[in-house]
Parts: sequence; C-alpha cells; structure tokens
Amino acid sequence: MIRVGNVLVSPGEGGVYGERTLEGYRVWDPHRSKFAALYTLGGGMELTPGMKVLYLGAANGTTVSHVADYAGTVYAVEFAPRPMQDLLEVARRRKNIIPIMADANRPDEYAPFMEAVDLLYQDVAQPNQVEIAEKNLVFLRPGGYLVLMLKTRSVDVRRDPAGVLEEARERLERRLEIVDVRWLEPYHHDHAAIVCTRRS
Ligand code: SAM
Repeated sequence: MIRVGNVLVSPGEGGVYGERTLEGYRVWDPHRSKFAALYTLGGGMELTPGMKVLYLGAANGTTVSHVADYAGTVYAVEFAPRPMQDLLEVARRRKNIIPIMADANRPDEYAPFMEAVDLLYQDVAQPNQVEIAEKNLVFLRPGGYLVLMLKTRSVDVRRDPAGVLEEARERLERRLEIVDVRWLEPYHHDHAAIVCTRRS
C-alpha cells in the first residue's frame, strides 16, 4: 500500500468525492473508510493489480474507488437505490468497477456475473453480517481473504460488543483461518475488522 509520509493514499485520478490529493495521490481517510482505518492501524493485506474483489455494501463507492485504484476488478454489490446512483457514476469513470444492484443475502442473484475472487470485503451493517459473509464464501478462491467489517451494534445493541465480536470470530473460525481481529478505534466506534483466509 502506498503512503505519503504516514498518510495512506491510493494511485487513481482524484476528485471522486472531494477527497484531498497529496503528491498526485488520493488521500484515503481512515475516518471515512473502515478499510483505510484497518490499514492505518497496521492490519490488512496488500491490494495488487491482478486482484479480483467482491465488495458487499458498496454504498456510494468512496471506499470502492480506492480499492479499485489498487486492484484489478471490483464487483461492487449494493441494494439501496440512492447510493447506487452515486456508485454508477463512480463506475462510469473507473472501468474496473462492476456495480451490481442486489441483496448480498441472495448471492444466487449475482452468481451469473461473478468469477472466483481473491478478496471478499464486507461492510453491510446488518444483524446477520456473519451469515451474509458465509453465504458469499462460495465466490472466494482457496487461499483468498475475507475482510469482515463487523458493526457490533447492528448485531445486537444491548449486548457487550466484545461478546458479539467473539461470537462472530468463533463462527467464522469453523470455515476459515483467522488472520487478524482488531477494533477500529479511534476511527470507527463499535466496529471491528475480522480478517480470515480460506484454507487452500
Ligand atoms: N463500505 C461503504 C464505504 O466504506 O464507503 C460504506 C457501507 S455502509 C456502512 C453499508 C452499506 O451496505 C449501505 O449502503 C447499505 O445500503 C448496504 N447494504 C446493507 N445491507 C445490504 C445487503 N443485504 N445487500 C447489499 N447492500 C447492503
């Protein structure tokens, strides 16, 4: 990953959502993007030019656009019409983003457009976040990574966040190898990143 000083950046053309640029690179702000927070806190894997990514919860494409600056192809799934409009605009300017309007609970709906991916990234803030990730593992190639951004309050606002995280971790561990688990404080409250690999 590219840094200017200690600032995380990405190498694409600027002006996607009003982000700053530094020495010609786009600043990837950890306060705005959980993926950037993960990198800034010392976690995450290298994004490489050949990489295929399935991104669940694309929203208006801000983080997607940075991932697409590094990766080969980004399949970006979003089900809400309003952010989808912005995502389409981002995809119009970045040919390696494939926007898919679909419910991530229904991978069968987009399976016909998909190929095996090296990275499954998920940021959907739903009560059944782990279940959604499990359903989409069908697209992850052996040796590939899952990065699950867990919003503990979306799972159950009354429960202890550490307990929610532990439960998610244990469930994922049944099918994947856990590489890293970390809270995204001070950038995102009550959010944790769980990074796993699929055994070859
Ligand atoms: N990842 C985005 C970023 O960094 O710019 C922010 C994602 S936002 C926290 C969560 C997004 O997931 C929302 O846009 C929401 O509409 C979408 N989402 C939630 N559940 C979904 C589902 N089942 N299928 C597809 N998108 C979903």
